[in-house]
Amino acid sequence: MSVLWQNWARSVRAHPRRVLHPASTQEVVAAVRAARAEGLPVKAYGAGHSFTPIAATEGVLLRLDRMDAVLGHDAATSRVRVQAGISLHALNPRLLALGLALPNLGDVDPQSVAGAVSTGTHGTGHRLHGISAAVVGVQLVTADGDVIEIDEQHPWFGASRVTLGALGIVTEVTLQCVPTFLLHAREEPMALPEVLDRLPELVEENDHFEFYWFPHTEKALVKRNNRVPEGSERAPVGRVRHLVDDELLSNGLFEVANRVGRRVPSLVPRINHVSGSALSAREYVDHSHEVFVSPRRVRFRESEFAMPRAALPEVIASLQGWFGAGHETVSFPIEVRFTAADDVWMSTGHERDNCYVAVHQYHRVDPAAYFAAAQDVFTAHEGRPHWGKMHTLGADYLSGRYARFDDFVAIRDELDPHRVFSNPYLERVLG
Ligand SMILES: Cc1cc2nc3c(=O)[nH]c(=O)nc-3n(C[C@H](O)[C@H](O)[C@H](O)COP(=O)(O)OP(=O)(O)OC[C@H]3O[C@@H](n4cnc5c(N)ncnc54)[C@H](O)[C@@H]3O)c2cc1C
Repeated sequence: MSVLWQNWARSVRAHPRRVLHPASTQEVVAAVRAARAEGLPVKAYGAGHSFTPIAATEGVLLRLDRMDAVLGHDAATSRVRVQAGISLHALNPRLLALGLALPNLGDVDPQSVAGAVSTGTHGTGHRLHGISAAVVGVQLVTADGDVIEIDEQHPWFGASRVTLGALGIVTEVTLQCVPTFLLHAREEPMALPEVLDRLPELVEENDHFEFYWFPHTEKALVKRNNRVPEGSERAPVGRVRHLVDDELLSNGLFEVANRVGRRVPSLVPRINHVSGSALSAREYVDHSHEVFVSPRRVRFRESEFAMPRAALPEVIASLQGWFGAGHETVSFPIEVRFTAADDVWMSTGHERDNCYVAVHQYHRVDPAAYFAAAQDVFTAHEGRPHWGKMHTLGADYLSGRYARFDDFVAIRDELDPHRVFSNPYLERVLG
């Protein structure tokens, strides 16, 4: 008997033989050994928030949602040890209570720590990195059922953070946190040509800068989040404003707009004009995680690539050319973010300052042609696809994008020679 498993985006379905919820590292060890004895592959998943089939298996699926404890923290170093199944949603308030925070976050928080780290989940900030760069220690259950600790001195440390789930089951993680901080958020519409003209200033003069561009228009929404001086007070978004902006405009009405756009695609450019104008400027001050994270209730599919920052104007121009040629209408804004180079071998940020360009499509619309066109643009600029977001690339292309690709594959060969933790997606991207 198998069960149906699907991801959040409904872009992946699988029929694992069984889904287990281990409560301890020892139970993970037992689950891996039992699966091996039966010749079944094993995968772990977090919140199923990857758009790719990276977590899918027809074998044994482990969900570590019972492994959600904060195991300890060291006040002197701001390091926190957690069980790998804890969600970012549960972790952020726990860190706040300890006077700590993660240095940067993405747009949402349902992901598990292990899942977010394994695919290189990131936010924005030209001096900052993805979440995996905050990892300073990992406990891993290997294909033999051994439990190994990988810390900063371990030769496999560079491979052990963004693992794509290919090296073993991550059971505990030590995170290098920072003292809690408040962010001043400033969001406002800006014309796309102005955003592009002022890009170096906007990127470099803000701690966290990103923008959303509404396809078929020259409208954009820019977001600047900056740390406030110590002693500043919180001034969160009011309840009504939150309901109007974050629930009604960004979710409720946006769902309606997408349904209308799907039925009558020719209306999409006009809808995008209205959407691009509907969200007015706002400012507020709140705890970092409250500013980074917002609700995403309209289901979508996404593809996102990291590219050298200098490529951005050409990338935008090529996408404008594609929209201008009238191939398809797209109602979802394109999201552009920035991060600094890191030292995580399989991170999209490995040794390169990046811009990220993310294309989205409503889940009831086939994204294949749009994402393929965008992928052609991104790969023309040394694009590295987000491991959890849709792309069709394989090891032949990807090995050329990562200096430590072969070293990572060699560690995989050593740790998992029988491919207990593999699946078709990993075979494609790792070879
Ligand atoms: C609405 C939405 C918003 C998003 N926003 C962002 C964003 O702002 N920035 C960004 O970079 N990404 C974003 N993503 C992508 C998302 O952060 C990643 O795909 C992330 O990996 C999902 O985490 P998860 O816990 O759901 O992991 P899953 O998708 O369930 O799994 C991801 C990978 O991690 C592995 N894994 C999970 N747990 C373990 C474990 N214990 N041991 C070993 N391997 C494990 C899985 O096998 C798989 O390979 C978004 C996705 C959605 C749906």
